[in-house]
Amino acid sequence: MPTSRAAVLRAKGGPFAIEDVRIEEPRPTEVLVRVVATGLCHTDLLARDQVMPPGPPAVLGHEGSGVVEAVGAGVRSVAVGDPVVLAPASCGRCVNCLGAHPMQCRTFLGLNLRGRRPDGSTAYRGADGTELGGHFFGQSSFSGLVVADERCVVRVRPDAPLELLGPLGCGLQTGAGAVFNVLKPRPAGSIAVFGAGAVGLAAVMAAAVAGCRDIVVVDLHPGRLALAAELGATAGFDAADDDLVKQITEATGGGVDHAVDAVGLPQTVRNAVDVLHVGGSAAVVGSAGTGREVSLDISRLFGRTVTGVVEGDSVPGILIPQLVDLFLAGRFPLDKLITRYGLAQVNEAAADAAAGRVVKPVLTH
Ligand SMILES: [Zn+2]
Ligand SMILES: [Zn+2]
Repeated sequence: MPTSRAAVLRAKGGPFAIEDVRIEEPRPTEVLVRVVATGLCHTDLLARDQVMPPGPPAVLGHEGSGVVEAVGAGVRSVAVGDPVVLAPASCGRCVNCLGAHPMQCRTFLGLNLRGRRPDGSTAYRGADGTELGGHFFGQSSFSGLVVADERCVVRVRPDAPLELLGPLGCGLQTGAGAVFNVLKPRPAGSIAVFGAGAVGLAAVMAAAVAGCRDIVVVDLHPGRLALAAELGATAGFDAADDDLVKQITEATGGGVDHAVDAVGLPQTVRNAVDVLHVGGSAAVVGSAGTGREVSLDISRLFGRTVTGVVEGDSVPGILIPQLVDLFLAGRFPLDKLITRYGLAQVNEAAADAAAGRVVKPVLTH
């Protein structure tokens, strides 16, 4: 049984403990991946704090990139030595998977958050042999070796810097996919992005690629607004301003064509709808946990659309290689979002991310 260093969640709230873990050999449809690096996503912290499952002890992490180390007998899409980005799990058989919306898989929550394979087993064990929850978003990339279903790995160009690509598997495809796959702005269109974390900034970069003329960004941190401007934002607004909607409406000649809410709070969802011009559409992609409700002025819904979007409604095998191409062409500069840490600094990285000191921590194995 292969072993690896991993950051293990032993108790609600953490901290993550660096331990040796044992990983099963891949089953016939699975792949063993040596993880080079992994992003740390807000969702990892929600799971650490048990706002969402799986419960401890467990290995989290879901923005891994790495190299295929071994493949099961039935694996056809990748081979040993391939560079890959890991993406969330989907069943491949439900009506949404068959309709090319695998991130809306009918069994998405069970496959990605239960900490187990569909049959209830786990490939991850502690050094003493006791079972650990794993398979988090189909991977658990806080382990240096992961077992993932073949459907979770996306082969990428060998000339791309693999250690920077992991966040494409969650945060970056979430923001970019909301723009490319759902909002689909017309050339010289307008968009407002609420929240300039990794997801919101990916939406900003995608809006710039899509040729939006007005790219408005809203955040509490001046440093993040400055970074957004570097990535293509044309105006920045302080999220704390009371008359935010009025300011944006005036600055954009009556409202925007599209809005992305990458925060997931009642007020940001409300604002994302209220800044829309008639005919506009808003994508809600952020989540601050379940049980929150939003109120809308019903008259503001007429002629407008609000859609909740999971993982950018992407087909990872299509969108992730496209984003890698854009990155290498200098048009999706994801490296500007990233601060690198060693795996052993995972708790420091989590604290920095929670405090807004960094945008996207990437932990190197
Ligand atoms: Zn499915
Ligand atoms: Zn994530």
